[in-house]
Amino acid sequence: MLKNFLPNEHVKSVLDITPAKLKDMGIKGVITDLDNTLVAWDVMDATPEVTEWFKEMKDYNIKVTIISNNDRERVSVFSEPLEAPYVYSARKPLNHAFKRAAKQMGLKKEEIVVIGDQLMTDVLGGNVGGFHTILVVPIKKTDGKITRINRMIERRILNWMRRKGMITWED
Ligand SMILES: [Mg+2]
Repeated sequence: MLKNFLPNEHVKSVLDITPAKLKDMGIKGVITDLDNTLVAWDVMDATPEVTEWFKEMKDYNIKVTIISNNDRERVSVFSEPLEAPYVYSARKPLNHAFKRAAKQMGLKKEEIVVIGDQLMTDVLGGNVGGFHTILVVPIKKTDGKITRINRMIERRILNWMRRKGMITWED
């Protein structure tokens, strides 16, 4: 059960995930979370660094789809300037948005990584869906209300993993 919460990898920032590295792994597509993964949850638009990250992925022919539990307004305003396909109100960790994104990209689950800042939604959903999962450190410490409850549970799981030596970064 707990192993479904364990990411395959963890990095500090989404910017640490390079297209060259993904290509080496045989990866052709990325499913990424938005809030606190690409930008802080209360920042509307992509930063220049994130915009550049999307461009680099495109240069390497790696498709990127944003899937977010947030609403249409938030997700479309962020994604459309990047010309990135997106799924809003995704209800992660449920599987359907992940499946839809994979189908839209025309890729198999083995060719896709799932990136996100939350164990309870991104990592759990990605793992159950059979994707390679990469956990990032949340950009901002504070969250919306529902996320706060998830974070409480998550902190316990992370502490447990840290004790077991499964996760090595510092808070
Ligand atoms: Mg998030």
